Amino acid sequence: MSSKYQSFKYIKTNYSYISVYDNQKWDEGKLQTSDKISIPISSTALHYGQTCFEGMKAYRTKEGRIQLFRPEDNARRFQESCERLVMPTIPVDVFVEAVKKTVLANESFVPDYGKNQSLYIRPFMIGVGDNVGVKPSPSYMFIIFVTPVGTYFDGPAKPVDMLVSTYDRAAPEGTGAAKVGGNYGASLLPKEHAKHLGFADCIFLDPKTHTKIEEAGTSNFFGITKDNTYITPTSPSILNSITNRSLKYIAKNMLNLQVEEKDIYIDQLDAIIEAGACGTAAVITPIASITFNHNKHIFPYHQEMGPTIKKLHDILTKIQVGDLPDPNHWITYIK
Ligand SMILES: *Cc1c(COP(=O)(O)O)cnc(C)c1O
Repeated sequence: MSSKYQSFKYIKTNYSYISVYDNQKWDEGKLQTSDKISIPISSTALHYGQTCFEGMKAYRTKEGRIQLFRPEDNARRFQESCERLVMPTIPVDVFVEAVKKTVLANESFVPDYGKNQSLYIRPFMIGVGDNVGVKPSPSYMFIIFVTPVGTYFDGPAKPVDMLVSTYDRAAPEGTGAAKVGGNYGASLLPKEHAKHLGFADCIFLDPKTHTKIEEAGTSNFFGITKDNTYITPTSPSILNSITNRSLKYIAKNMLNLQVEEKDIYIDQLDAIIEAGACGTAAVITPIASITFNHNKHIFPYHQEMGPTIKKLHDILTKIQVGDLPDPNHWITYIK
């Protein structure tokens, strides 16, 4: 496809994949041309948030091949999200095969190499059985749809201003580590609030003490310190980002940086010279400043993407489209 796709606008493609769970088992799964489903109005997904999802991409290489990036990691995380909501799981190989099948069926929608575009893949599961009480549904649908996407930015991303939210995105031992629908419904208001005040997105602090950075909107937060260390927080309520995991690997093994998972206190940001938010959708968004209690902390690299973040970004995106060799069994060919 040669058209220019916008960042995250839904475009209907030819096929979606759907599998149904009934009587304690999954059916074979099939491709369908419709992008509509019909479900009971009493479905648990609609009332009690029994719904979780994944976000991944298929990339076109220079040679025209189509490939996935770490799909087994998405499959495993999907299982964890399902388990957290008492939903049946999908075996890793079934998940990956279903993703491949859906991408292949929509091959003509995989954007050409060299345009910073890709095919976004959205697997998700919903509870769909008749059920009025608060209990797990007897039936489920596992669905995958795809849609071509561009990057959020033309050229290198410009650093953005972030506001520390007064809301929490998750509870200390809640569902923050799972990619479940409810987390995102709850994040809409804090994001709208930040945008209304002129910020690109919000930073969430840890819900227990409100002293440490937890997430950057719906992305993981990381920083590069003065002494060349890649730092990123861990907590039971952070969503374990595959992009962050990959950046840590690249930082350590390809850029010879130290990597530390540690608490990042909101009032101790001076050690950080480059800050970023990372995730599959935008890869890395550099952060120019963080405003907390009316105090604006501006990072040294606030006008352009900093040099280390730029290197991390370029290496990761080149691996994803096959311009650099696969360093660690990250790539799965589709075609
Ligand atoms: C999906 C997501 C991320 C990014 O995860 P990736 O695997 O890198 O795409 C980060 N934070 C939250 C809250 C997310 O939902």
